[in-house]
Amino acid sequence: MADKIFRVNMTDLSTTIETVPAEWAGHGGRGLTSTIVAAEVPPTCHPLGPNNKLVVAPGLLSGTPAANSGRLSCGAKSPLTGTIKESNSGGTSAQLLAKCGCKALIIEGQPKSGTWYNLAVTPDGVTINEEKEVIGKGNFDAIEILSERLGASQGIITIGPAGEMKMRAANLSVKDPDGHLRSCGRGGLGAVMGSKGVKFISIDPKDGKVEIADMDKFRAANKAFAKALVDHPVSQALGTYGTNVLVNIINESGGLPTRNFTQGQFEGHEQISGETMHDLIQEREGKVKHNCHKGCVIQCSQIYNDAKNEYKTSGFEYESIWALGADCAIDNLDHIAEADHLLDDLGIDSIETAVAIGVAMEAGVIQFGDGEGLLRLLTDEVGKGTGLGRIIGGGAGDVGRAYGVTRVPVVKNQAIPAYDPRAIKGIGITYATSTQGADHTMGYTIATNVLGVGGTLDPLSKEGQVELSRNLQIATAAIDSTGMCLFIAFAALDDATCLPALIDLINARFGIALTGDDVTNLGKSILKTEHAFNLAAGFTNEDDRLPEFFSLEPVAPHNVVWDFTGAEIDTFWAF
Ligand code: SF4
Repeated sequence: MADKIFRVNMTDLSTTIETVPAEWAGHGGRGLTSTIVAAEVPPTCHPLGPNNKLVVAPGLLSGTPAANSGRLSCGAKSPLTGTIKESNSGGTSAQLLAKCGCKALIIEGQPKSGTWYNLAVTPDGVTINEEKEVIGKGNFDAIEILSERLGASQGIITIGPAGEMKMRAANLSVKDPDGHLRSCGRGGLGAVMGSKGVKFISIDPKDGKVEIADMDKFRAANKAFAKALVDHPVSQALGTYGTNVLVNIINESGGLPTRNFTQGQFEGHEQISGETMHDLIQEREGKVKHNCHKGCVIQCSQIYNDAKNEYKTSGFEYESIWALGADCAIDNLDHIAEADHLLDDLGIDSIETAVAIGVAMEAGVIQFGDGEGLLRLLTDEVGKGTGLGRIIGGGAGDVGRAYGVTRVPVVKNQAIPAYDPRAIKGIGITYATSTQGADHTMGYTIATNVLGVGGTLDPLSKEGQVELSRNLQIATAAIDSTGMCLFIAFAALDDATCLPALIDLINARFGIALTGDDVTNLGKSILKTEHAFNLAAGFTNEDDRLPEFFSLEPVAPHNVVWDFTGAEIDTFWAF
């Protein structure tokens, strides 16, 4: 069965199945969502209007047994940044969509009435159904109800109340193998789905499966690939402490933004660290090692139970713990876990919302360190959609504008995540130049600047940082197209067997003969496509800049400022 494009028009409630155009055929995941958005979405359209489109795509290897290949890409013009956006997630949906023969699902148009719908995807196409039962429900209740209604094995991509309210930080939540949630967190794609009147998408592949052109070659490549992943020391640390292994490491580097980016180290770092979390999880009989989709061999996820030993959250990531913890000066891991649970239930990005609350703390809305106050803001303000809640749900930039705060850590209106660019300069280049607004995952220079992966580069020196970020952004764009989790990058950077095995997997899947150069060129062309969309939307080089306060305020303990000139940053695009 050849893969097809499934298209849904929410204006006239029609659906079609289309042959994949030749120019889209070599793309998957982010490469495909960005190619389609660039081809079909007017760059200056309103992100919540009828001309924006939400594109959902599995990666090139999703649905196969390839290790770590179950990431789902979602793309649109972002209501948060106004740029092109791709946000990806684990969960079961990428693998199930691929088994439906769906190369991409495009949701376009907008219903005229206030009616809510669900979309049911099978190998036969998409049906549009009116939805009432789960409207207004939090994500956890909705997933439970839908698992009962549809059966536990179906994939679900849903929005929570934040997406229904079209908050600009609303995310898309994706059901994982345990019936919990993963998130396409960044950029407000949940608001785009809400603007289409779609509450959830269910995916039932029936007996569908993904065809592999050369199974023997595929099996051999997968064995070598999986071995490279599990042998890498960073994979092993992730499998033991999760991504939260980074709290102590980044604190030590002086790059752990604290109290709305006024300090680079947090006195409460030990209490919120991966090591402390690991011990608490074990005491409470949670799970320290867990995967977000079938076939992951790294297993960075975990299940965190509360003090009553009841499930609270999973996939409890460093960036969320940093944002709710150090950035808000909260050192109580149970408060942070409760907040993470509330954010998951509302369906809103934990990084954006917590950084927004950090800015609100600076404005005096509540005090830094007030964990109970943070929970109250999420429950009584954001959850109820009050005026203040909608400002916070609009992200850090909205809070800064509403309260007249000048220290607002955003690029292209998206909150800067968990690494201070003054102390770790490579990541500052990524924040400035990323086509998606500030996003560490677009070019994770922490690997080389701090972890010594792919070589070493002094994080406090400007030397080589533009090249490092550029190379990683090109590689990331390609990896995001395969359906692979980004954490394969550590092995890919250090182990000479990893990347060839990944290319062999793609070649065996499709019966083609890609080379390493082809993969690099794919990454470059994706970045250029995304950049061209942004330029056509009205962005210029002047938008590739960090907020002024990073150049004016030295951050302890290194007492350094951001000191790249605009001209130096602009050399990024010379490729
Ligand atoms: S390493 Fe973590 S994020 Fe990546 S696929 Fe596994 S559980 Fe998911």
